[in-house]
Amino acid sequence: MARSTKQQAILFVGKLPFKLTSSLTTANLHGSSKLLLIQEHELPTPTDRLSYNAIFHTNFHQQTPLDQTLAKIENEFTISAVFGLSEIGVLPAAYLTQKAGIKGNTINTALACRNKHTMRMALSKANVSVPKFHLYQTHSSLTDTENACGEYPLICKPLLGFASKGVIRADNREELVKAIRRINRDNAFVLSSFYNLFCPEDVNKVLVESFATGKEYAVDGIVVDGEAQILQIIDKPDVSNGPYFPDSVHISPANIDDNAKNQLIIATKSSVAAVGLVNGPFHLEARIDQDIVNVIEIGARIGFPRLLKLSTGLDIVKLTIEQHFKAKLADTIGPTCFAGNLCINPETAGFFNGISNLETLRKLPNVDEIVVFVQPGDKVHPPPDSSGYIGFAIVKGNSYDEVATTLYEIRDTIQIDIKQRRIDCDAKNNN
Ligand code: ADP
Ligand code: CA
Ligand code: CA
Repeated sequence: MARSTKQQAILFVGKLPFKLTSSLTTANLHGSSKLLLIQEHELPTPTDRLSYNAIFHTNFHQQTPLDQTLAKIENEFTISAVFGLSEIGVLPAAYLTQKAGIKGNTINTALACRNKHTMRMALSKANVSVPKFHLYQTHSSLTDTENACGEYPLICKPLLGFASKGVIRADNREELVKAIRRINRDNAFVLSSFYNLFCPEDVNKVLVESFATGKEYAVDGIVVDGEAQILQIIDKPDVSNGPYFPDSVHISPANIDDNAKNQLIIATKSSVAAVGLVNGPFHLEARIDQDIVNVIEIGARIGFPRLLKLSTGLDIVKLTIEQHFKAKLADTIGPTCFAGNLCINPETAGFFNGISNLETLRKLPNVDEIVVFVQPGDKVHPPPDSSGYIGFAIVKGNSYDEVATTLYEIRDTIQIDIKQRRIDCDAKNNN
């Protein structure tokens, strides 16, 4: 039989977050093509056009368009790996990996990393400590939920949320009922398409959990042939205790004592094994109280790549590609400096009209960059209604305190201008 003359390729599902596309240009792909798969409605940026050999469009949430796109790609290329590096790429990437019959994370693994109830079950089955949990479905008994989760406060969340969307603390039964109602509304009207691919039945369900106390940390790492390598531990020193959970200050390397760190590393490795991750990046969040680690979640995706780059010099996209080709990474990893990231969330819902002191904040000592993702006139919401941050402030320094001081200053003085009406409506009214 004639040998296939098709070009070998790596397929990236979903655009790479902010500035990471440039890593593709410098990574050694051993002659493989780089392909980008994006959603039907998305436009590639000029950088995307330059960075990939070909760009394909599909619907990430439906099997038929995914099958058709895969057939189209396979007409031209032999895919050797599929990577979905951000949260919405995880399920379609696993589907395409399995369908193409290549090595990588399976659909079951992707579900255990994406669907919070599947995740809780996989982790608790492997004896990883997680909050107590109960799956609330329409007509479930609230008493059953309360009995399963223990005392208030409880946490409610959608199964396929992200960026703290729909994560709500309930202090009593009345608040529990309200939170469940609000999450069901979000599921039905905002998140519904995410459930289509593998868990349409979960669109009516809400995960209720016991409240994990303690300090919160995040871990970024990479899995190489099933083995977790920890790349950075991030501190979340001003983490919210509710009722909503906007992400805020992140600092790497974390200010964490050795005992807690060892427990966190053990819990991280067990979590990676429990969900069955085979390769690629992972991001884990945990709360630690008196050295007892409660895993909040694990994702099959990159976490804080800019922090990683600044604090360790490591490039997660390059590492992902390297582990695919070499299966063994260099093991000398140590912090080189301190770095921090403030996730910028609006305080109120409305129409974004700019950050009035942005240029002043950009001149603060240690600020590496402040990036704003939204445009004037865009509708923005704080958590629990938001579906993403409006920007990041990235800071680097010589000590934890130096980085923390700048991040807190930005957090406490940032002036986000939110209009209650669309700006063009204002203009009309003024005429
Ligand atoms: P998302 O995927 O939207 O980030 P998470 O489940 O990670 O949702 O929740 C977001 C944040 O809410 C967490 O970082 C944590 O601070 C808080 N949180 C979530 N679940 C719990 C819990 N059971 N106990 C305490 N805090 C929690
Ligand atoms: Ca998440
Ligand atoms: Ca999270």
